[in-house]
Amino acid sequence: MLRLKKFWHAWQSRWRFDIGIDLGTANTLVYVKGKGVIINEPSVVAVNKKTGKILAIGTEAKKMVGKTPAHIVATRPLVEGVISDFEVTEQMLTYFINKVRDGRFSSLIKPRVLVGIPSGVTEVEKRAVQEATLSGGAGEAYLIDEPIAAAIGARLPIQEAGGNMIVDIGGGTSEIAVISLGGAVVAKSLRVGGDKMNEDIINYVRENFSLLLGEKTAEDVKVAIGSAYRLDQPIKIAIRGRDLITGLPKEIEVSDSDIRQATQKSVRIIINTIKTVLETTPPELLGDIMRRGVILAGGGSLLRGLDRLIAEQTEMPVKVVDDPLTAVVRGTGIVLEDIDELRSVLIDTYVEDNKPKW
Ligand code: ADP
Ligand code: MG
Repeated sequence: MLRLKKFWHAWQSRWRFDIGIDLGTANTLVYVKGKGVIINEPSVVAVNKKTGKILAIGTEAKKMVGKTPAHIVATRPLVEGVISDFEVTEQMLTYFINKVRDGRFSSLIKPRVLVGIPSGVTEVEKRAVQEATLSGGAGEAYLIDEPIAAAIGARLPIQEAGGNMIVDIGGGTSEIAVISLGGAVVAKSLRVGGDKMNEDIINYVRENFSLLLGEKTAEDVKVAIGSAYRLDQPIKIAIRGRDLITGLPKEIEVSDSDIRQATQKSVRIIINTIKTVLETTPPELLGDIMRRGVILAGGGSLLRGLDRLIAEQTEMPVKVVDDPLTAVVRGTGIVLEDIDELRSVLIDTYVEDNKPKW
């Protein structure tokens, strides 16, 4: 019996795999220890409402957004950083975990999974993420604060006593944190991010041009010509939607200044929160932040001129991390690769039968 047990353990550790997941409101990314980031797909699930069946997940499902018949809905299981539909989130996690399992023939081998979660979520919400990860196929599920993962991904020296400021602007949330000695000293989570900007664009175009835009078009416009700061070279783009007066398709031209006007309120909310965080940061840490700069991560940080506007308004140097969309998942990867050194950044586990072994 003992020998069997020993064999079983040896076999399991031979095949064990550790993965890091950035379960974002807009995108889910997966890092496999020893391999790197191998999945980067939208957090979208297409469901047939009549049968309750899931039709597609990730990239396939996103292609369906706004193009499906009424009974097929493409939903985002995470809203504002939090699981809004537990079962769908679990299915999405199962799908991604199985995708990386690929080739590891046995479902007996369950990965250890480290998941990034927004710093503002409640205990109940943390538990929900952990439970969804376990029922999605993980053997053990660990959590890490997203801003901390982003800071690690940005290679900030967060383990030292010193101030590091990270601003992660995602789809549903923006996370702003000052980190020292591996923990957040000040943290704010805002339910404003790239999605809100898309909504702003839809509202602006409806009010000013009587044109109804789809969400995907709004996002495309934002990526193509969106900006937070006046551009040196103005840009225009043609967009299509439905004329609200005639009900027919119509094409109009919008400029970067239109889109900047549309999104400026959301941008201002983010900047004001950054200011509030700076105001409550202990002065000892401000000096370090001044030297290292405010670090921007997340897809929203790609909005043109946002770094410049934040720098101007906060009088702090500002840098966008390399490859801002992958900072969090790369951070989870760094933790996985060096778990002995970085174990302390994990959040205590919440689920009873998930005794930490790491
Ligand atoms: P999450 O962590 O919530 O999944 P991400 O960090 O993946 O979010 O960022 C997704 C958000 O970034 C979306 O709202 C998307 O529209 C926005 N985004 C991506 N690229 C750009 C860009 N070039 N300019 C402005 N916003 C962008
Ligand atoms: Mg994110």
